[in-house]
Amino acid sequence: MSAYERPARLDDALKFRARVDCSVLAGGTDHFPVRVGRRVEESILDLSACRELRGISQTRGGWRIGATTTWTDVLETKLPPLFACLKRAAREVGGAQIQNAGTIAGNLCNASPAADGVPALLALDASVELASSVGRRTLPLEEFIRGPRQTSLRPDEILAAVLVPRPAYPARSHFLKLGARKYLVISIVVVAAAVELEDGAVRAARVAVGACSPVARRLPALEAALLGNRPSGSLVRPEHLSPLAPIDDVRADAGYRNEAALVLLQRLLEALA
Ligand SMILES: Cc1cc2nc3c(=O)[nH]c(=O)nc-3n(C[C@H](O)[C@H](O)[C@H](O)COP(=O)(O)OP(=O)(O)OC[C@H]3O[C@@H](n4cnc5c(N)ncnc54)[C@H](O)[C@@H]3O)c2cc1C
Repeated sequence: MSAYERPARLDDALKFRARVDCSVLAGGTDHFPVRVGRRVEESILDLSACRELRGISQTRGGWRIGATTTWTDVLETKLPPLFACLKRAAREVGGAQIQNAGTIAGNLCNASPAADGVPALLALDASVELASSVGRRTLPLEEFIRGPRQTSLRPDEILAAVLVPRPAYPARSHFLKLGARKYLVISIVVVAAAVELEDGAVRAARVAVGACSPVARRLPALEAALLGNRPSGSLVRPEHLSPLAPIDDVRADAGYRNEAALVLLQRLLEALA
């Protein structure tokens, strides 16, 4: 028989997860649309009442974003300029209802190639903290998402938090999304970058592109080209996009995606200049 559990404490959630084969539910904005018209037969662990999983706090090494932190929470939390890319992503995920219910962890665990949160959090060098009743482990976001709809979560684990490290130099970031219309749209291309600057020159850079490969990818050659320079769109070369493997689908063809990614990256770096 299926069960529905909505615990107030993380410990109780982890015990249930260890005991029962269940689907994890947060805001439900990815979970429910793929089940329309189907009977709910699975057991559900609903994390939405776990207060300790919600909110953004500062830690010694950076910031901790609790798993059930919503996009609206991101927008309403005072954060340094480093987080501009995540705030901008938050503003562009769905509409107000989706931003109020949808969570950061849900966006990552759903592992859509077009998830807007993934490039933004890659640019922030994020890791994920995975919890089970026997302990916790931390994985870089790049290792957590293994393919479309595939993550490294074990059946007894939940994603408890997203961890963002404090940069070594003053940092800023930006995010741009291209869709077929301005709002409520699945990305055709999405780009995000964070740069750490000393005297105007880039000391560290992280640039990521989503919706152009099975999993959003960082662009190491472009990141290397930025080092020591002021951020500028003129530094972007077509060969920097070689980690991408865009496909043709109903939203755009591969050639268009490649061209759009190049232009978006140029605009992104101009905005960071
Ligand atoms: C109309 C509409 C518009 C949308 N627009 C966008 C958009 O513009 N950009 C975009 O990126 N997405 C968009 N989405 C998708 C979705 O809203 C986001 O991905 C959202 O962040 C998902 O969060 P959630 O809490 O609702 O996830 P849920 O639906 O609750 O969960 C999603 C998946 O993650 C798993 N999960 C959730 N939390 C955890 C956890 N803590 N531990 C382990 N597993 C977990 C669930 O089991 C499920 O498989 C849209 C969806 C809709 C319906």
